[in-house]
Amino acid sequence: MSDMATNLEDKKISKNFIELIVEEELAAGKNGQRIHTRFPPEPNGYLHIGHAKAICLDFGIAENYQGKCNLRFDDTNPTKEDVEFVDSIKEDIHWLGYDWEGREFYASDYFGKLYDFAVELIQRDLAYVDDQNSEAIASQKGTPTEAGTFSPYRQRTVAENLDLFQRMNAGEFAEGSRVLRAKIEMSSSNMHMRDPIIYRIIFTPHHRTGTTWKVYPMYDFAHGQSDYFEGITHSLCTLEFVPHRELYDWFVNQLKTDDYAPRQIEFNRLNLTYTVMSKRKLLQLVQTGVVDSWWDPRMPTLSGLRRRGYTPESIRNFVDKIGYTKYLALNDISLLESSIREHLNQIATRVMAVLNPLKVVITNYPEGQSEELDTPNNPEAPETGNRMIPFSREIFIEKDDFMENPPKGYFRLFPGGEVRLKSAYVISCHDFKKNAETGEIEEIYCTYDPETKSGSGGIQKKVKGTLHWVSAPHAFKAEVRLYDRLFMDENPDGHKDKDFTEFLNPDSLKIMPNCMLEPSLKTADLSQKFQFTRLGYFCLDSMYSTTESLVFNRVVGLKDSWTKQQKG
Ligand code: ATP
Ligand code: MG
Repeated sequence: MSDMATNLEDKKISKNFIELIVEEELAAGKNGQRIHTRFPPEPNGYLHIGHAKAICLDFGIAENYQGKCNLRFDDTNPTKEDVEFVDSIKEDIHWLGYDWEGREFYASDYFGKLYDFAVELIQRDLAYVDDQNSEAIASQKGTPTEAGTFSPYRQRTVAENLDLFQRMNAGEFAEGSRVLRAKIEMSSSNMHMRDPIIYRIIFTPHHRTGTTWKVYPMYDFAHGQSDYFEGITHSLCTLEFVPHRELYDWFVNQLKTDDYAPRQIEFNRLNLTYTVMSKRKLLQLVQTGVVDSWWDPRMPTLSGLRRRGYTPESIRNFVDKIGYTKYLALNDISLLESSIREHLNQIATRVMAVLNPLKVVITNYPEGQSEELDTPNNPEAPETGNRMIPFSREIFIEKDDFMENPPKGYFRLFPGGEVRLKSAYVISCHDFKKNAETGEIEEIYCTYDPETKSGSGGIQKKVKGTLHWVSAPHAFKAEVRLYDRLFMDENPDGHKDKDFTEFLNPDSLKIMPNCMLEPSLKTADLSQKFQFTRLGYFCLDSMYSTTESLVFNRVVGLKDSWTKQQKG
């Protein structure tokens, strides 16, 4: 076994098929045992959880085999790209825990070299300018079982092609009026080999190269060559690029001067249930105001997941669990949710917040008095210690934790009933006040039993229900946002006759404006995660919180409510 593999051995995780290929090549001494990958985002949108799968693989392979991973922006289409996206992509990769060690490259860095290579192909009679528009070219492509037909411009002389290509780049011809095509084989069984378009005319200025260029390389003409220029050994991409591989290799073979060539390997992309993942569709959700931004907490973008309260660890764990194969899959979003639940269970501080406050007056507790009660910050992490929470004569509980006429088996509060207040006392209800007109319960009256103080060695009286609560004079008001899945259909993208927007969940955001929170949450910061007792995991919202008014997001509930619903 090559000692290059030791990092992986230490981690004791099973190897995926790409790691096995890498190890075989290392053992065979290929590329001087050099491992060099790249992550190649197009800066036309924010990164999503699917990209995280690619990032973990590209950077992970480099990390595990003492290699390098470049960040390369695939910025070949100025009409869709923007620096806003470049910045967000870098931030998201760092957040996930990876670094490109200064190797930040752009396909546009190679526009000069790519242009020269195109000129060389023309000189070798391997490329020609076609004066037809894209529809005409498509109509001559043939079908997988029928050869295509030659373009009437295929036999142009080298001199004419050189002249036209240079004038295309000088801006002499309108967008769409001419393209440069590779001259390969119109009868190839691979449609991508049938004289593919390699350059098109675009007048939109480029976010990095301005108006220097009027011709821009197609993805297929830029990608493999950029890999080659950077010395990439393993060009990892998703399965839809399988049919592009022959063309990738063809271009690299025209370019290479020795043994070295980058190798494209394809893996299955991440698709999530109840989610759309294409950047075009995510952009549509932003532009039509369905969500508040690319980083809306309901978006599957990394910035959305971050704002929602997902941790990078939970995302890396999830990606690890689903693995890398050659088979298309639709991954269950509940697996992602259980990953974050698992992590937050370890790290979240347990606090109390009441979303729908109902006032409880403890009639035998002295007016004007209060006390501090001891409560653990996180029983899963005893080293986080305890903190004190205030208790007093007036507290809030959840409205639906009280019922005037409870059904059998109701273990919360009702007239004559008893419950424990978490980390406090047992209380029993003796009266309540009801609004005569609306019938709404306005206040309830209880007594507490001073002998039942939690954790004090007092009487650990057996009661069936435990409620969360906050002390009314000490609590503060905040907004809490509850999220649900953005789509109600398992595969919103998978319907031929219906648009994905038809499956939007109208209840994906529920705003609770009048929640009462325990005072320790006043100083919450964005790095902290909380478990609100009985309600789920929460964190501060980075967009709407101000120093005067805090807004909290629910990351995820304590249990998988969807699976439960489906079963019962
Ligand atoms: P989209 O379809 O969302 O627009 P894209 O493939 O056009 O995605 P790029 O910015 O070109 O987006 O992707 C950068 C890298 O991330 C590519 O290597 C691509 O294969 C990979 N990638 C994109 N989506 C996924 C996904 N769902 N699962 C795994 N890898 C992905
Ligand atoms: Mg792409």
